[in-house]
Amino acid sequence: MEVILKDSIVRLIQGDITKIEVDAIVNAANTSLLGGGGVDGAIHKAGGKVILEECMKIRNQQGGCAVGGAVITSGGNLKCRYVIHTVGPVWNGGNYDEEEKLRKCYKNSLLLAESKGVTSIAIPNISTGIYKYPKNLACRIAIDEVANYLLKDGTIINELVFVCFDEENVEIYKNELKKF
Ligand code: ADP
Repeated sequence: MEVILKDSIVRLIQGDITKIEVDAIVNAANTSLLGGGGVDGAIHKAGGKVILEECMKIRNQQGGCAVGGAVITSGGNLKCRYVIHTVGPVWNGGNYDEEEKLRKCYKNSLLLAESKGVTSIAIPNISTGIYKYPKNLACRIAIDEVANYLLKDGTIINELVFVCFDEENVEIYKNELKKF
């Protein structure tokens, strides 16, 4: 499925984010930046040790990454030039600024990507795995932040791919993207 948002194309794809051909992919990392399960594990496994080494350098310089923040490494063995590591919030019932933090993940990832000249980017369903953010709420936030970003004046990001791994997220994203 595809929708056009001003000068950008937004695609919905089901699959493994490590296989997508774009300038940058976003990783749902954790504050340690040392790798973990889920999409983080898949990216480090496919990208090789260079990514982890760069993450460790960043960790030594700035002590990891805050929730809602984003840092950038090369793509290692992946096809992409960059991996943007962002840290989603753990769902804790909704009264712990989870929404604001998740919004920041999308915004900060896009800002960082753009600052490096990225024109195409793939993003997973941040926080909806191990961190248990309700998928429908997370989807609305993701699409809202992305739409706000792409509809602003003069972005260089002309292709954005939402990569859903599980069927449930695919259906939720389809329903939300239909509205555009
Ligand atoms: P978080 O800790 O932020 O919840 P997870 O990696 O556990 O991160 O899950 C985030 C989302 O990534 C989930 O929807 C999960 O299904 C999905 N996911 C897991 N592996 C991959 C992959 N290889 N490519 C794309 N998405 C993936």
